[in-house]
Amino acid sequence: MSGPSGAGKGTLVKELLDRVPDVWVSVSATTRAPRPGEVEGRDYLFVAPERFEELASSGGLLEWAEVHGNRYGTPREAVEDMVAEGKQVILEIDPQGALQVKDKRPDSILIFIRPPSMDELRRRLEGRGSETPVQVELRLQAANTEMEFAGIYDFVIQNDDVSRAADELAAVIDSCSGTREL
Ligand code: 5GP
Repeated sequence: MSGPSGAGKGTLVKELLDRVPDVWVSVSATTRAPRPGEVEGRDYLFVAPERFEELASSGGLLEWAEVHGNRYGTPREAVEDMVAEGKQVILEIDPQGALQVKDKRPDSILIFIRPPSMDELRRRLEGRGSETPVQVELRLQAANTEMEFAGIYDFVIQNDDVSRAADELAAVIDSCSGTREL
């Protein structure tokens, strides 16, 4: 799953957990500093750049990319274990990472979450209060670039109404599980 920062991916994933059983959400490793309220091991594995390098070079990451000046990656083993257990594995990653995953696992489904509008995205990023004004501008610029990737995704979901968007996301995931029809 991808979408610009502030598009509401995190909220949608929380809603999804109430709707679809057997969903497991991967926890990424990142070199970014924790934001207030973020918890180690729940939101991210916060690691030093050297540790990230070690993980990446030893094949410990399924994919990784540099986003907004920090590195983010998906720990490989946990994902493989969960897939082996039959879980639906959700990765919240950027388009560079999504392409790497599609390459390694052609059976993966790419879902793009679109914010309602760029104005709304700005309001959400400013309202979140966790980024400086300069960081907000950088994320808005990055959002414009990221939106250009929507075309490579298997599904695009517009997040203007969280409940409706979560229903749509649940339907997509159900349809991909092979156990239930859309
Ligand atoms: P944030 O700093 O707001 O938590 O995340 C910024 C962006 O990093 C997210 O929108 C997401 O696209 C990307 N991201 C988070 N985790 C990963 C990851 O494991 N791999 C990749 N490629 N991107 C990630």
